[in-house]
Amino acid sequence: MNDRRPLVLVVDDEPVNIEVMAETLDIEFDVICAASGTEALSLAADAQPDLIFLDVIMPGVDGYEVCGRLKADPRTSAIPVIFVTALEGLEDEERGLRIGAIDYVTKPIRPPIVRARARNQVELKRARDQLATLARVDGLTGLANRRAFDTALERECLRHLRQKAPMALLLADIDHFKRYNDAYGHVRGDHCLRRVAAVLREATNRPADLTARYGGEEFACVLPDTPAQGARAVAERLRHEVLRLAIPHAGSPAAAQVTVSIGGVAARGARLADPAALVEGADRQLYLAKAHGRNRVLVADTEGSTDCDPGQRRRNHPPHTSGA
Ligand code: GH3
Ligand code: MG
Ligand code: MG
Repeated sequence: MNDRRPLVLVVDDEPVNIEVMAETLDIEFDVICAASGTEALSLAADAQPDLIFLDVIMPGVDGYEVCGRLKADPRTSAIPVIFVTALEGLEDEERGLRIGAIDYVTKPIRPPIVRARARNQVELKRARDQLATLARVDGLTGLANRRAFDTALERECLRHLRQKAPMALLLADIDHFKRYNDAYGHVRGDHCLRRVAAVLREATNRPADLTARYGGEEFACVLPDTPAQGARAVAERLRHEVLRLAIPHAGSPAAAQVTVSIGGVAARGARLADPAALVEGADRQLYLAKAHGRNRVLVADTEGSTDCDPGQRRRNHPPHTSGA
């Protein structure tokens, strides 16, 4: 699944120790080295190694402090740390484990033991990473799932609130998809969902844009640093790209092919303090897009204003305009 050689960072202030460790490990691993605690911290954050061998006793920032800081930094907290300690340092083993080290080896090191421990920890880390990915990704479409979307939306709202920048949220919903399933069957329904998902992911082309499967046949896009006009343009592009797929949908009153309706909101400032209200706002526009005939885009510009369309209520059931 992952054929890349694991990357191991060796941290030791003694060049000869680094040499021995590098020789021991480079049969199976790619090895990078740091000669001080400070260097280790920046290298770990930049290179994202799969494992760190960390000397305990170093001048300046010692191993304990390095480990503590690695564990406190979200960029490095998931990287396993194995302490390398002299035998007489073993009484401190408990301290190391408490700080967040996952294992230890003693000097003078025995190469087969070091390799075996490294192998074990790298395998465990890959399994953990894989689980973390599964927890974030929708199995059918490969897009971010609802949980990942909720987390990303909250994070982006806070960030844009802090930076006083505009952001937008789009909700796209396949039109008359129940009828599509009824007419073509669920297997083709699933296939259609995957194709629409792929198009939505590709058409939101800024690296920071996040496209997620919100649920069923609904998708959500978080568009950072995007005011209403930009969000409308993106939404129109998404709608067009789905049209360009030209997936026949004979039972749809909206068009002869699969289409999406898209509702969105752009917001900045105090509005961003309530991510759930943003979703409700986008949902309201989606409701209106459906009610106005589907296969269309409606994006509300709520920037600057703080009132909340009291006349409109959250959509519970999408309207079926033509006798479904
Ligand atoms: P509207 O235009 O108002 O959105 O109509 P709709 O039929 O798309 O909306 P409705 O919410 O009534 O139905 C959504 C349908 O989406 C219900 C279900 O058959 C289908 N659906 C939801 N999730 C999946 C899925 O994972 N696979 C398949 N094949 N169909 C799904
Ligand atoms: Mg639908
Ligand atoms: Mg729906």
